[in-house]
Amino acid sequence: MRLGNPFQHSPLIILHQEVYQQILTSASVGYPHEFCAILGGEKAEITRLYPLKNIAAEPERFFKWSPQEFIQQWKRIMQDQLEWVGVIHSHPHGKPYPSHADHLNWHYPQLSYWILSFPQKAEPKLLLFQWSKNGFVQQNYTIQE
Ligand SMILES: [Zn+2]
Repeated sequence: MRLGNPFQHSPLIILHQEVYQQILTSASVGYPHEFCAILGGEKAEITRLYPLKNIAAEPERFFKWSPQEFIQQWKRIMQDQLEWVGVIHSHPHGKPYPSHADHLNWHYPQLSYWILSFPQKAEPKLLLFQWSKNGFVQQNYTIQE
Protein backbone atom coordinates (compact mmCIF):
# COMPACT_ATOMS: atom_id res chain seq x y z
CA MET A 1 0.00 0.00 0.00
CA ARG A 2 1.40 3.32 -1.03
CA LEU A 3 0.12 5.53 1.72
CA GLY A 4 1.60 8.97 1.30
CA ASN A 5 2.81 11.27 4.04
CA PRO A 6 2.61 14.70 2.40
CA PHE A 7 3.33 16.87 5.44
CA GLN A 8 6.55 15.01 6.05
CA HIS A 9 7.85 16.19 2.67
CA SER A 10 6.91 19.85 2.94
CA PRO A 11 5.01 22.17 5.26
CA LEU A 12 3.40 23.67 2.15
CA ILE A 13 1.16 21.33 0.20
CA ILE A 14 0.84 21.87 -3.54
CA LEU A 15 -2.57 21.39 -5.15
CA HIS A 16 -2.58 21.24 -8.92
CA GLN A 17 -4.88 23.73 -10.61
CA GLU A 18 -6.55 21.00 -12.66
CA VAL A 19 -7.45 19.08 -9.49
CA TYR A 20 -8.81 22.25 -7.88
CA GLN A 21 -11.09 22.79 -10.91
CA GLN A 22 -12.28 19.17 -10.72
CA ILE A 23 -13.04 19.64 -7.03
CA LEU A 24 -15.24 22.66 -7.79
CA THR A 25 -17.00 20.84 -10.62
CA SER A 26 -17.62 17.69 -8.55
CA ALA A 27 -18.92 19.72 -5.61
CA SER A 28 -21.22 21.60 -7.95
CA VAL A 29 -22.56 18.44 -9.59
CA GLY A 30 -23.06 16.80 -6.20
CA TYR A 31 -24.79 19.80 -4.65
CA PRO A 32 -26.79 19.90 -2.36
CA HIS A 33 -25.13 16.68 -1.16
CA GLU A 34 -21.67 16.51 0.29
CA PHE A 35 -19.22 15.32 -2.32
CA CYS A 36 -16.26 13.15 -1.39
CA ALA A 37 -13.12 11.90 -3.09
CA ILE A 38 -9.68 10.58 -2.41
CA LEU A 39 -6.59 12.34 -3.71
CA GLY A 40 -3.55 10.93 -5.41
CA GLY A 41 -0.17 12.50 -5.80
CA GLU A 42 3.45 12.30 -4.86
CA LYS A 43 5.19 13.61 -1.78
CA ALA A 44 3.61 17.00 -1.03
CA GLU A 45 1.89 17.37 -4.40
CA ILE A 46 -1.76 16.58 -5.08
CA THR A 47 -2.07 15.71 -8.75
CA ARG A 48 -5.25 13.67 -9.20
CA LEU A 49 -8.83 13.43 -7.94
CA TYR A 50 -10.60 10.08 -7.51
CA PRO A 51 -14.28 10.77 -6.84
CA LEU A 52 -16.39 8.49 -4.67
CA LYS A 53 -20.16 8.29 -4.53
CA ASN A 54 -21.64 9.60 -1.28
CA ILE A 55 -23.82 6.80 0.07
CA ALA A 56 -24.57 8.36 3.48
CA ALA A 57 -28.19 8.11 4.65
CA GLU A 58 -28.23 11.90 5.02
CA PRO A 59 -25.88 13.02 2.24
CA GLU A 60 -26.68 16.69 2.83
CA ARG A 61 -25.05 16.43 6.25
CA PHE A 62 -22.60 13.55 6.10
CA PHE A 63 -20.42 11.65 3.70
CA LYS A 64 -19.72 7.95 3.45
CA TRP A 65 -18.33 5.89 0.61
CA SER A 66 -18.72 2.19 -0.14
CA PRO A 67 -15.69 0.04 0.70
CA GLN A 68 -15.91 -1.58 -2.76
CA GLU A 69 -15.72 1.70 -4.62
CA PHE A 70 -12.93 2.87 -2.34
CA ILE A 71 -10.89 -0.23 -3.18
CA GLN A 72 -11.51 0.33 -6.91
CA GLN A 73 -10.31 3.91 -6.73
CA TRP A 74 -7.41 2.96 -4.53
CA LYS A 75 -6.34 0.41 -7.16
CA ARG A 76 -6.51 3.16 -9.78
CA ILE A 77 -4.15 5.26 -7.67
CA MET A 78 -1.71 2.34 -7.68
CA GLN A 79 -2.15 1.82 -11.44
CA ASP A 80 -1.40 5.52 -11.93
CA GLN A 81 1.74 4.92 -9.84
CA LEU A 82 0.77 7.56 -7.35
CA GLU A 83 0.47 7.62 -3.58
CA TRP A 84 -2.76 8.07 -1.70
CA VAL A 85 -2.14 11.51 -0.19
CA GLY A 86 -5.46 12.88 0.96
CA VAL A 87 -9.21 12.94 1.33
CA ILE A 88 -11.64 15.70 0.47
CA HIS A 89 -15.31 16.30 1.14
CA SER A 90 -17.58 19.30 0.92
CA HIS A 91 -19.80 21.10 3.37
CA PRO A 92 -22.47 22.41 1.00
CA HIS A 93 -24.31 24.17 3.81
CA GLY A 94 -21.66 24.88 6.40
CA LYS A 95 -18.24 26.29 7.08
CA PRO A 96 -15.11 24.47 5.90
CA TYR A 97 -14.13 23.20 9.35
CA PRO A 98 -14.17 19.58 10.53
CA SER A 99 -17.44 18.56 12.17
CA HIS A 100 -17.80 16.29 15.17
CA ALA A 101 -18.50 13.40 12.77
CA ASP A 102 -15.39 14.30 10.77
CA HIS A 103 -13.27 14.00 13.92
CA LEU A 104 -14.78 10.65 14.85
CA ASN A 105 -14.42 9.14 11.39
CA TRP A 106 -10.86 10.08 10.53
CA HIS A 107 -8.46 7.13 10.60
CA TYR A 108 -5.49 8.20 8.47
CA PRO A 109 -3.66 10.90 10.42
CA GLN A 110 -0.73 11.18 8.03
CA LEU A 111 -2.90 12.13 5.03
CA SER A 112 -4.04 15.60 4.06
CA TYR A 113 -7.64 16.37 4.92
CA TRP A 114 -9.53 18.89 2.79
CA ILE A 115 -12.91 20.50 3.26
CA LEU A 116 -14.66 22.66 0.69
CA SER A 117 -17.50 24.88 1.79
CA PHE A 118 -19.89 25.74 -0.95
CA PRO A 119 -22.82 27.81 0.29
CA GLN A 120 -25.50 28.08 -2.40
CA LYS A 121 -22.88 27.00 -4.94
CA ALA A 122 -21.20 30.36 -4.48
CA GLU A 123 -17.98 31.51 -2.84
CA PRO A 124 -16.23 28.15 -2.58
CA LYS A 125 -13.68 28.05 0.21
CA LEU A 126 -11.20 25.19 0.43
CA LEU A 127 -9.26 24.57 3.63
CA LEU A 128 -6.57 22.01 4.39
CA PHE A 129 -6.06 20.22 7.71
CA GLN A 130 -3.54 17.92 9.28
CA TRP A 131 -4.36 15.62 12.14
CA SER A 132 -2.30 16.09 15.28
CA LYS A 133 -2.61 14.71 18.78
CA ASN A 134 -5.18 17.31 19.71
CA GLY A 135 -7.25 17.20 16.58
CA PHE A 136 -7.22 18.89 13.20
CA VAL A 137 -4.82 21.76 12.60
CA GLN A 138 -5.25 24.03 9.60
CA GLN A 139 -2.33 24.07 7.16
CA ASN A 140 -1.28 26.14 4.17
CA TYR A 141 -1.36 25.08 0.58
CA THR A 142 -0.75 26.65 -2.78
CA ILE A 143 -2.50 26.08 -6.09
CA GLN A 144 -0.11 25.47 -8.94
CA GLU A 145 -0.47 25.01 -12.70
ZN1 LIG B 1 -17.50 17.23 7.22
